[in-house]
Amino acid sequence: MEKAYFYGDLIAELKQLKEQGIEVGTIGKTQLGFEIPYVFLGKKTDTSLVVVGSTHAREHITTLLVMKQIRHYLKNQTVLNGGIYFVPMHNVDGVRICTEGVGFIKDEQRVKQILKVNGGHDFSNWKANADCVDLNTNFDAHWGEGSQNLFFPSPFSYVGKKPMSESENICLAEFLQKIKPDYLITYHTKGEIIFWQFFQEKLRKWRDYRLAKFVAKQTGYRLVGQTQSAGGLKDWCVEKLRIPAVTVEVGEDKYGYPYPYSQIDKIFKKNAEVPQKMLNTLAKEKKYGKKVYEAGDEGGAKGI
Ligand SMILES: [Zn+2]
Repeated sequence: MEKAYFYGDLIAELKQLKEQGIEVGTIGKTQLGFEIPYVFLGKKTDTSLVVVGSTHAREHITTLLVMKQIRHYLKNQTVLNGGIYFVPMHNVDGVRICTEGVGFIKDEQRVKQILKVNGGHDFSNWKANADCVDLNTNFDAHWGEGSQNLFFPSPFSYVGKKPMSESENICLAEFLQKIKPDYLITYHTKGEIIFWQFFQEKLRKWRDYRLAKFVAKQTGYRLVGQTQSAGGLKDWCVEKLRIPAVTVEVGEDKYGYPYPYSQIDKIFKKNAEVPQKMLNTLAKEKKYGKKVYEAGDEGGAKGI
């Protein structure tokens, strides 16, 4: 297997960025007590956007995607009309389990449980955190109502004992409530599709659809409307923060897990400019009080 982008690589790279004067901080700690870092680029104005990677462990290529966006904007000195908060690795514990195995976990009972739930040492398909909870089903947004939801510890789809039971989600939710972003992009793999809908009504539905369409246009990915899933980060942003948010599933469907790093350049090319173009569009729309981007004349029927 190709070498993954490990948690240690992330911490080392962020240390360098900090030394260059970039704002690097932490949103809080994981269930195992590791820091979940963030990077801020741009200016602190009234417009901001959040980009999140690796909510699912086996999709850790999305951490590298987010880091490549950061490197790209820094290298090109991209002008940001507002600010972007990047959270490159939401599920630090899960990514560590997937990329390193259980050797780094001190608590023997926990190691035993994880191995039992996983059925061995091959963590290629692990999506959960160290509590065997799927973070993208644990948010307080129609929690437990997803058609694939499980109610027992599992490498995927376990919703947890209650909504927001996991520290990774508590601290991300608190962070988002504090910064009040205008938009959120959460990166997953795979399938080159975009989810945006979560029971929005009327004007909010059309606003969120229009902005999701913008991401679809930039990436060439396909929009998918309402699904049977619940408790996701995007769902929580739509329902509780009442902001538009998208789950962007990068990478072609034909590859397995962990998603192969050989595909990163292709994925990056399609997503490199998405956060900055979205931010600059949102800032302009605020300033002029009108739509800068129009969804086009498809009539909005597709993807709803
Ligand atoms: Zn995912």
